[in-house]
Amino acid sequence: MRISQLFGKGKTVFSFEVFPPKKNMSAETVYSTLDSLKALEPSFISVTYGAGGSGADNQTCRIASHIKNELGIEAVAHLTCVGNTREETDEVLDGLKSCGIENVLALRGDINPDRPPKNDFHYACELIEYIAARGDFHISAACYPEGHIEAPDLVSDIRRLREKVDRGAEHLMSQLFFDNDCFYRFLERARIAGIEVPIEAGIMPVVNKRQIERMVTMCGASLPPKFTRIMARYENNPEALRDAGIAYAVDQIVDLAASGVDGIHLYTMNNPYVAEKISAAVKGVL
Ligand code: FAD
Repeated sequence: MRISQLFGKGKTVFSFEVFPPKKNMSAETVYSTLDSLKALEPSFISVTYGAGGSGADNQTCRIASHIKNELGIEAVAHLTCVGNTREETDEVLDGLKSCGIENVLALRGDINPDRPPKNDFHYACELIEYIAARGDFHISAACYPEGHIEAPDLVSDIRRLREKVDRGAEHLMSQLFFDNDCFYRFLERARIAGIEVPIEAGIMPVVNKRQIERMVTMCGASLPPKFTRIMARYENNPEALRDAGIAYAVDQIVDLAASGVDGIHLYTMNNPYVAEKISAAVKGVL
C-alpha cells in the first residue's frame, strides 16, 4: 500500500522509525524490537539508511522486507543520494521493488567530509525526480519545522520543500522538535506556500541525556525551558529521565493530535519499552 492512502481517514496516523543494527550490535536485536513494535499496531514503520551509503550490504532493504512480508505492516525504506551513483541508486530501488516495498523516503543525506559525494545527486529533490520518473514508488521527503541546519533562512527552506513536493514527494516527515509551536508555525508556512501533502510530526522521546544532546547539536532543535528543566533535574537519574522524557513526548503528541495534525512519526530509537509506554498513553487520542 502507498502510505498516502493511510491519511485523511479521520484518525491521526501513528508511525514508527527504526534503524538497522549498528556494527557492534547483533542483527537479531532489531528483529526482536520489531516483534514488540508489531503489537502496537503502527500505521507503518520506516527504516533508516546508513549515512554515506549502505547499499552494499543493504540492511535497510532486508529489515523493510521483514516488516512488510513477515510482520504484515506497511514499510517505508529511507534512501539517501549524495553517497550513491545513479547505478547504485537503481540497484537499491530494484532490490526494494523485488521485496515488494512500495514506499521510499527520499533524502539527500548528510555531507560527510570523509566520504566525498558521488555527484550524481546533489539534493533530495533530484532523487525525488529520479524515483518519480521510474513511477514504481510512493515518495516521502523530509521537512524541518525549524529550518534545515544549512538553509540560509526559513523562506528559502520552505521554497526548497515546495520543490520536493513539486518534483514528486507525496508525504512529508518532520525532523524532531520539542516545541510544538515551532511545528504549528512551520505548518502554516508550508500551507501558505501551497504544500498540501500530509505532513507527519517527528517526535523523539528522551532516552538518555547524551543521545539527546547529540541529536540537538546535529539538527538544531530549540529546547523550551520546560524541556531543559527536565534535563537538568533528572540528568543523573536515568530512570527518572526516561519516565519524564516519555511524559514529555506524550504531552507533545496529545497536543498535536488535538490540533488535528496528519500524523505522528515516533523515533523509537529501537527502544520498544519507550514505544510501548507512549503508545499506551496516546492510543485513545489519535
Ligand atoms: P535536501 O532537501 O536536499 O536539503 C538539504 C539542504 O539543501 C537544505 O538546507 C536545503 O534548503 C538545501 N537545498 C535543497 N535544494 C537546494 C538547491 N537546489 N540549491 C541549493 N540548496 C538546496 N539521514 C540519513 O543518512 N539516513 C536516514 O535514514 C535519514 N532519515 C531521515 C529521516 C527524517 C524524517 C529526517 C528529517 C532526516 C533524515 N536524515 C537521514 C537526515 C538527512 O539526510 C539530513 O537532514 C540531510 O542533511 C538533508 O537531507 P534532505 O533530504 O532534507 O536534503
